[in-house]
Amino acid sequence: MGTWTNDIERKEARLLELRPNCEWCDKDLPPASQEAMICTYECTFCRTCVEAHLRNVCPNCGGGFCPRPIRPHLDRRPGVSLRYQMPSTTRVHLSFDKAEIADFVRGVAHIPPLER
Ligand SMILES: [Zn+2]
Ligand SMILES: [Zn+2]
Repeated sequence: MGTWTNDIERKEARLLELRPNCEWCDKDLPPASQEAMICTYECTFCRTCVEAHLRNVCPNCGGGFCPRPIRPHLDRRPGVSLRYQMPSTTRVHLSFDKAEIADFVRGVAHIPPLER
């Protein structure tokens, strides 16, 4: 049986990707941001855009959002912290134009996320 640290290393390729910005407004969302919201595919937006523009509908997958968990910056366990599993530096931008997203959101927002 591997240690917890070995398990983390093995799983590193599919760790939660901490993306640096909001796809909609491009606001910086550093790892400790409490404004960062993610969908199940890690699409990342600020809380303001999730509420004001997206009405809790991810424009890429149609799912809802949750607050992004904060990764510890201190190694509380060996090899497990922001220092080892670093945030992404690749900024991500919208894949659809804003008018198209507005239509998409109108069609989905009335359905609770658990029924989508
Ligand atoms: Zn935003
Ligand atoms: Zn999504």
